[in-house]
Amino acid sequence: MKHICSFLLLLSLLIIPSHNGLLAQIKNRASLPNPKNIIILIGDGMGFNHIQAVNDFTGVAHQVYEQFPVRLAMCTYPAKAGEYVANHPGSNYYATGYNPALAWKDTAYLKRNFAESAAAATALSTGIKTYNNSIGMSVDHDTLENLIQWAKALGKSAGVVTSVQFSHATPAGFVAHNVSRTNYAQIAREILLDSRCDVIMGCGDPMFDDDGSPLNRKWKSVKYVGDSIFWRELIEGSGKRSSFILDGKTKRVRDVNGDGNADPWTVIRNRSDFKALQRGTTPIRVLGCPKVYSTLQQDRTMKNGENQDAPPFVTPFIPEVPTLAEMTGGALNVLDNNPKGFFIMIEGGAIDWAAHSKQKGRLIEEMIAFNDAVNSVVEWVNMHSNWNETMVIVTGDHETGFLWGEKPFMPLSDNGKGRLPGMKFNSDNHSNSLIPFYAKGAGSGLYRNFADERDSLRGPFLQNSEVAQLIQLLWFK
Ligand SMILES: [Zn+2]
Repeated sequence: MKHICSFLLLLSLLIIPSHNGLLAQIKNRASLPNPKNIIILIGDGMGFNHIQAVNDFTGVAHQVYEQFPVRLAMCTYPAKAGEYVANHPGSNYYATGYNPALAWKDTAYLKRNFAESAAAATALSTGIKTYNNSIGMSVDHDTLENLIQWAKALGKSAGVVTSVQFSHATPAGFVAHNVSRTNYAQIAREILLDSRCDVIMGCGDPMFDDDGSPLNRKWKSVKYVGDSIFWRELIEGSGKRSSFILDGKTKRVRDVNGDGNADPWTVIRNRSDFKALQRGTTPIRVLGCPKVYSTLQQDRTMKNGENQDAPPFVTPFIPEVPTLAEMTGGALNVLDNNPKGFFIMIEGGAIDWAAHSKQKGRLIEEMIAFNDAVNSVVEWVNMHSNWNETMVIVTGDHETGFLWGEKPFMPLSDNGKGRLPGMKFNSDNHSNSLIPFYAKGAGSGLYRNFADERDSLRGPFLQNSEVAQLIQLLWFK
């Protein structure tokens, strides 16, 4: 036993890289890796125990991403917690931070001053922490440049894919700029008309309900897609129409490939079209909006006696809605046409929604869908790229549900494959818990240099704002 322990200690000393790597490389910036493609997958609300829950249920010891070479924890607090109140910026407050000593002593501590998705996405996409509810704006309401704008400045392609509305906080935080995440219609218009994204995929189609049934007479709110006439014209003008009249003004879609011509959206909505997009030639620009309102599957009506504590798959999935993995495969096939590379953010957005609603089975469903999307990304890298030119990051934006075993800080109890583990949501909201951060490929090892704080349980951790900071260093050295 003693020999094994000292062997393991020696081994760990050999494989843990030294922390002077970044400084050494910055002295010779040209030697820094320059990732051609960067893929970030975000499980919204995904903490360590959300992954443990799906591993227990599926009888898998580790997900592929849990074996990525870079395995760290990440801190998610915003620059200002508290709600954004229009015209009262001072109503935000600065009580923020993460104190490892308090975190494991006081459960109330972790339930306070957490980030919501907009501030978290802004930190991840711009490298700057901000106030809760901010979409790409600083605490002083300055407009921040994001990863997608950096990618476009370098001639790369860019896009976002989500299982919730494409104008919801996380994709919006990667594309748009607005004082508040709740200004959905403005955000949707900015994403579709002002951004230079090549691919946008997500829900929000007001012509369908949460079960994917068409609404011929009475539409749902059009706020997630910007405007009712605009939305109809966008769909009917798929692949052709490049100008629209909004608020009495003519608005044109942007030129995404630099040829001087506005590039209209090709709109795809049927699952068969999402599947077909995964192979062969593709349109220049794709808006993928499945025929469902809020989420791909998580918000479908519970049937067959399903309740919050039921296992997954009690209510059949809506068959006409694509999976997050199918959407991801299609998006990658569009983006990889560009020889200069691309950036994409893929969000498992309804992990958070299931956790807010304390739905155990649906949390597992959403985690499986997210894991499938990660696996399709890894497959894409292995088949169409390689780890020397592509970096893949798998992380969350904050923890939701304060998910633990029987009691806070107790591990989940594994009840075997196909059975829900013993787990309990200790909150219906977010928490300030550290979340997992995994990375593999070009330049990703340098994230270890940012993890300069240490938690007694989770080990070294980095800040959410440092994710984009390293990418900026690698792309603009
Ligand atoms: Zn979130």
